Amino acid sequence: MIDARKLLLLVAARALIGDATPVDVPKETAIRGTVGADALRARIVQQRRQLLAPPPKLTVSEWADRYRVVPSYSADAGPWITDRTPHLREIMDCFSDPSVNRVVFKKCARIGATEAGLNIIGYFIHQDPSRIMVVQPTVDDAKEFSKEQLGATISDTPVLAERVASGIKESSNTILLKSFPGGSIVMGGANSPRFFRRRTVRVIVLEEVNGYSSDIKAKGEGDQLKLAETRSATMTYRRKTYINSTPTTKGNCRITKEFESGDQRHRFVPCPSCNHFQTLVWEQLKYKDLPEPAYECIACKYHITASEKDAMLAKGEWRATRNTASTDTRSYTINALYSTFVPWTTLVREWIEAQDDKEALQTFTNLSLGEAWEDRELQDVQEALKARAKQYEPDGAAWRVPRAASALFCGVDKQHMELHAVVRAYGPGEQSWLIDRVVFRGDTTQPAVWAELDVWHREKRWRHEGGALLGIQGMCVDSSDDPNPVYEWTRPRLSSHVYAIKGGADPNASILPKKYTKTHLKSRLYSIGTQVVKKRLLARARMIAPIPYTLDAPGRGFMHFNERANEQYFAEFFSNVFERRAYRDKQVTMYVLPPGRKDESLDCEVYAYVALQLVAFNSTFNLEEEWVRVIEEGEKMQHPQPESEPPKPEPTNTGGWMSSVRRSGKWMP
Ligand SMILES: [Zn+2]
Repeated sequence: MIDARKLLLLVAARALIGDATPVDVPKETAIRGTVGADALRARIVQQRRQLLAPPPKLTVSEWADRYRVVPSYSADAGPWITDRTPHLREIMDCFSDPSVNRVVFKKCARIGATEAGLNIIGYFIHQDPSRIMVVQPTVDDAKEFSKEQLGATISDTPVLAERVASGIKESSNTILLKSFPGGSIVMGGANSPRFFRRRTVRVIVLEEVNGYSSDIKAKGEGDQLKLAETRSATMTYRRKTYINSTPTTKGNCRITKEFESGDQRHRFVPCPSCNHFQTLVWEQLKYKDLPEPAYECIACKYHITASEKDAMLAKGEWRATRNTASTDTRSYTINALYSTFVPWTTLVREWIEAQDDKEALQTFTNLSLGEAWEDRELQDVQEALKARAKQYEPDGAAWRVPRAASALFCGVDKQHMELHAVVRAYGPGEQSWLIDRVVFRGDTTQPAVWAELDVWHREKRWRHEGGALLGIQGMCVDSSDDPNPVYEWTRPRLSSHVYAIKGGADPNASILPKKYTKTHLKSRLYSIGTQVVKKRLLARARMIAPIPYTLDAPGRGFMHFNERANEQYFAEFFSNVFERRAYRDKQVTMYVLPPGRKDESLDCEVYAYVALQLVAFNSTFNLEEEWVRVIEEGEKMQHPQPESEPPKPEPTNTGGWMSSVRRSGKWMP
């Protein structure tokens, strides 16, 4: 605080030096270098500045360059230098620019987005005290962010440590709440709807919004972005929102939608050879037959080398690619080619390693290219499956189940007014064939529809190509939401391998639980690991068929579909998308059903596969021995004399895969 004595001293000092013009003395270092009157003069000027001047009007990047210290968690620990991440300058400076209220950053990993967020928070603590809200995907993410990143930044950055620790009762600073003179930071998880209630804030930082759970929205609480932004509505032109995330799947990607709603800024950098400004795209990074990866200029074809990269990135500029009049959102996107931390050689290695693995390729697309994943193959896969389905059933064939199959398994998905059933034949090596698909209509809380399912289950038989008649060997019925009718129906049929199941929530659970749950109706309930099965079946459906396609050639794990798999069936079967989601306060990658889509056929296929596993688990059944039995039975039916030749154990064209099939225990987790 300025007292009268200091003011008098300052007036005297002005008279002494005869000049009151402030001299720009950069920090205390300059003072040490001057002597005598100069030193006095400099000290007086500095003192005057400290006492009388309003806080310096800095941009966020200037503030960070002057004050921010990066803690030891980073490889780049020490004083912050914006020049090391030139792409962050404009994004950060939006928050000291009164004309910008809303910033969206669709980003790749390893580009400094979280550090930019910390600079923005630090700026508001020190320069423009305000109430700040930070939303992470989960409460645990928020705690981790608070302890490891924000907490360390505050304690290592002196101007922040002074403010957040001083003049405040200790009790007002917890892990998820930090107070400072003139403001506060409250942190929480997007999985907690209560967090969004009854708060008014000015600055909102929404981190990794694609990881926000969709459960809250499903429960009618509303979308978290809207919930959060309502909290600053009364701040009108003073409010500031920062939304960032890496993208996920095209068509279902929150950050892509937000980016598209803004002015769509891309980073343009000049070619060191021809000076043509261009955005860096993955296709232009060349590495084949080159000693090291090089970026090919789109204009002059010059190969830009890694040694020229940093100088080129420093000259970059953000350019809006969409008319700005229609939006108040500034949106930015960037990929890892611009990263000053990740060499191009690393990206090329990751790209090559991801080539044979669809999930790794999706991860590379999301995390390194900062792009939403589009499954370009999916349409081709579905076309191929439909074409194959047409060749499945020979005209006028007397049989329905191909020769290489051993037994039939059924999955039943219960809806309120329908039971969907899929019958799939499995053979040695878990090669499988879609056999039937039936819908039983009727209120599933009433007995009528269950009686219909019962008759079908007891009486329906399908002719095997070898001659035998096959019924359903095992069946799983989904019991999630309203399980009682399912327990009642399955309990007396346990000895026929009819099981009540429900998909467990844990995305890492093994297919079968260690033990079933006893339900109150004395039935058994198996909580199953649907994620593992979905992953397995969706990968198998994509296996490449041999040419020419036959019903028994391809072997282990191969899935065949007949014409009962129509357009709708495949749409449901491939409806799930593979995304990062919050589960028990952890980020995990899992298959999820996008809102507004259906996946009954996939669920039925999953349950039919689980039925096979349960039958093998609860009996001595295995597909190889069963196949021998079915062939023998078929031959007996065709040649009724008791002393017939023993059958050959392999159908034609099996390529030896049957002999490698082991007992069922091998498939169990
Ligand atoms: Zn060029």
